[in-house]
Amino acid sequence: MATAPDQDEMFDQFLSQRGHETGPAGWETDYNKKQCPDCGGLHDQEASGCTVCGWEPR
Ligand SMILES: [Zn+2]
Repeated sequence: MATAPDQDEMFDQFLSQRGHETGPAGWETDYNKKQCPDCGGLHDQEASGCTVCGWEPR
């Protein structure tokens, strides 16, 4: 039973078409964490800004 690479490709296209907007403006998301796009620091969903580098979403 081979894995189907088609599903991953379709998922990538799906994300591309939606512009990869998965959370509040600016934040990257990694599972249930917010990830700072600047330094890559992980924060809880309640975070309003990055406590590592001081970055904030606009
Ligand atoms: Zn940061």
